[in-house]
Amino acid sequence: MSEIKLSEMRDLTRIERIGAHSHIRGLGLDSALEARSSSEGMVGQTSARKAAGVIVKMVQEGKIAGRAVLLAGQPGTGKTAIAMGMAKSIGQETPFAMLAGSELFSLEMSKTEALMQAFRKAIGVRIKEETEVIEGEVVEIQIDRPAVAGAASKTGKLTLKTTDMETVYDLGGKMIEALGKEKVQSGDVIGIDKASGKITKLGRSFSRSRDYDAMGPQTKFVQCPDGELQKRKEVVHCVTLHEIDVINSRWQDDCVIAHCLNFRTQGFLALFTGDTGEIRAEVREQIDTKVAEWREEGKAEIIPGVLFIDEVHMLDIECFSFLNRALENDMAPILVVATNRGITSIRGTNYRSPHGIPIDFLDRLLIISTQPYTGDDIRKILDIRCQEEDVEMSEDAKVLLTKIGEDTSLRYAINLITSAALACLKRKGKIVDMEDISRVYELFYDVKRSTQYLMEYQSQYMF
Ligand code: ATP
Repeated sequence: MSEIKLSEMRDLTRIERIGAHSHIRGLGLDSALEARSSSEGMVGQTSARKAAGVIVKMVQEGKIAGRAVLLAGQPGTGKTAIAMGMAKSIGQETPFAMLAGSELFSLEMSKTEALMQAFRKAIGVRIKEETEVIEGEVVEIQIDRPAVAGAASKTGKLTLKTTDMETVYDLGGKMIEALGKEKVQSGDVIGIDKASGKITKLGRSFSRSRDYDAMGPQTKFVQCPDGELQKRKEVVHCVTLHEIDVINSRWQDDCVIAHCLNFRTQGFLALFTGDTGEIRAEVREQIDTKVAEWREEGKAEIIPGVLFIDEVHMLDIECFSFLNRALENDMAPILVVATNRGITSIRGTNYRSPHGIPIDFLDRLLIISTQPYTGDDIRKILDIRCQEEDVEMSEDAKVLLTKIGEDTSLRYAINLITSAALACLKRKGKIVDMEDISRVYELFYDVKRSTQYLMEYQSQYMF
């Protein structure tokens, strides 16, 4: 059905080998939304995970739009991990966009434009489109002999038949490639999407069912279509409003929207050719009007997704007023923001407020707080990370690393896993032991020791 899934597009932006959150596969909740003590890579933080699960449920049921949630807690208490868990459990069709507050100030576009793009990346549109599909049984594929030996053939003929007629189609290079890719042979029943040239193998024809034994039980036999070869079929595309914006702003003014539905053939190429730049307000207005029309005609549905903004205290007063307004829109996604700040000044003002967030915006937020980890939680997270990084560690070393995690921070302890594994490799050991942990602990300072060192040698640094 949906040819290009949002998940595939997300993957393109997440090329990480073993990322900090690669072990998170969900929120680790049971069917009653209770947090399991350790599940899907998640440990502890049970009430925050449960609250996040309730939000995910509401998003999935399409019950809420335009709400905002704040994940507040000390550094390293799993706010980003919980947001990643939400992204994983939210379902493939629901868009999830994320950005860090600081990114807004380093992009080559205005911060409100960057926020607008992020918002529209988190709003999905499920569009039903009718396309013409030619369906039939392959009678013969005839590829022209290349004019020059060794050169690729570019033309040929394809004979397709339904129960009562046969039709011959001219083949172009793209079609020949598609037939080859799908390994289409005579006797296969195929569908060809006229707009994109995409070929789908539907199965083998009933008339060839005597081949059954040779082809094995996996082969699907289908009835050859009756009568006309061309059918109108409904296909569903799931795209984000931002994708529609990008595609249309790349085209000439006179074909804005007109080609909007032709995503597969042109749109996604445009999308991946680099920077999207600023998108004109008129383009967005036209798109919103068109999407509203499609919704009225029953051709499109809005899927409000989730926008996650980390380090929300980095946003300034203009950004907050933008968010306040944007959340009023009936297509708005769920906004999840996170911060590790206490009472601090609101960027761009001399006022101080909780988390550096203006009071009127704070009042909109459902607040989920994360708590510091117990030694037991730290130990379990370290176990999971050792598995994730494929590091074998002795029991003593794990006890020591847990102690280090309790005294410094969970993140510091997680970081020591890889470096201790390298130290172990260097001494040609197989299992990371206490000696490796101690070595890297001495080699790399944690925040506390680094501060102490600075205080001791302050006079030798530049001011
Ligand atoms: P900061 O405020 O500094 O941004 P944070 O609260 O966002 O920190 P994370 O980055 O989510 O903290 O957590 C630090 C590390 O610990 C990450 O690798 C994360 O995946 C892992 N982690 C945190 N909490 C959990 C948890 N409950 N279960 C499993 N792993 C966790």
